[in-house]
Amino acid sequence: MIRIENLRKEFDKGVVALDSINLTFDEGSFIALLGPSGCGKTTTLNCIAGLLEPTSGSIYFDDRDVTNLAPKDRNIGMVFQSYALYPHMKVIDNIAFSLKQKGMPKAERHEKARQMARKLQIEHLLDRMPGELSGGQQQRVSMARALVKEPQVLLLDEPMSNLDARLKIEIRDEIRRIQQDLGVTSIIVTHDQEEAMAMADKIAILDNGRIQQFDTPEMLYHKPANLFVAHFMGNPPMNFIDASVEEEDGTLWLRGGSFRVKAPAAMAEKLAGKAGQAVVIGVRSHQMNVLLAPAEETMELHLSLVENLGKDIMISGDLDDALVRVTIPANFEGSYEQLRELRRQGGSVYLKLHEDYNIFD
Ligand code: ATP
Repeated sequence: MIRIENLRKEFDKGVVALDSINLTFDEGSFIALLGPSGCGKTTTLNCIAGLLEPTSGSIYFDDRDVTNLAPKDRNIGMVFQSYALYPHMKVIDNIAFSLKQKGMPKAERHEKARQMARKLQIEHLLDRMPGELSGGQQQRVSMARALVKEPQVLLLDEPMSNLDARLKIEIRDEIRRIQQDLGVTSIIVTHDQEEAMAMADKIAILDNGRIQQFDTPEMLYHKPANLFVAHFMGNPPMNFIDASVEEEDGTLWLRGGSFRVKAPAAMAEKLAGKAGQAVVIGVRSHQMNVLLAPAEETMELHLSLVENLGKDIMISGDLDDALVRVTIPANFEGSYEQLRELRRQGGSVYLKLHEDYNIFD
């Protein structure tokens, strides 16, 4: 288990890279630190690794306070974006390097390196030099090197960013498989939300040195805590429509420039007492039905684009001031050709929201 308490990191010139970070990672879990450039992901990882000294706050591995321990005393394995292999050493010696430092005899450390290489399917590369390997192979070697000392915690800093798209997915699956096999608590830094969603049990989303939400991929996708998280998670991105709350004879309504829809019953508690307030409706592209004629509580979408994406048809258009993208549902009454024709004529479709959208203050 890893516990981070009130972590703060200030750099020179008053740069506050991290502020009040509190996180607990369960033993054996895979955690992603996700956020835009400069949000503090690497600073968090480097504090956990001991490569940076926090300004204040504490870090515990189980009940051990490691805040002031040197990296070598923390029992961690690290994998970097740059792989950082020793260029003049064979692969087997690269993998076994940390064991040599611990004073393990050559035969024993080579045997351990071979076992780890087998797990990562790079046994045939052990006699090569790093310069004779592809990027994907180098990344596997750096994983083996980090894991051979059986670390308590594995730290990965953008490990796939130098790989092409196909290899990225292959290595991503491999890292996840090995992590699950070994059960080592792992933390990955990434700015790629799909990568984080695919790999992690839980994701900490950072912005401006603060945690915005720490949750499972499902919760971040379906129940984002705020607009920042909602903007960040999901592809295509969530749609955002401005509205205000109205109350009439005990019924809550959401009114926009061109629509008025009843607020779903499940939102009654959240919207209680907010009559007159501005809110933002957050709705994913698949959370609505598409009609060709207006009906009760529909929203008019002026079509600007109709795309056939192979698996789905996607339409885009203007709804009040918002650009809204909609995935055409299977039960749609019209056809792709009809939508294309409608767009050519400058026409509209009518959206009926499902009841599971989000509301943000
Ligand atoms: P990226 O995805 O671009 O790597 P990040 O989320 O990992 O970004 P950090 O590298 O943790 O972000 O940086 C967080 C903030 O701290 C940024 O504003 C950065 O400019 C600042 N920062 C990082 N390292 C230093 C340093 N050594 N000296 C001064 N400021 C720093």
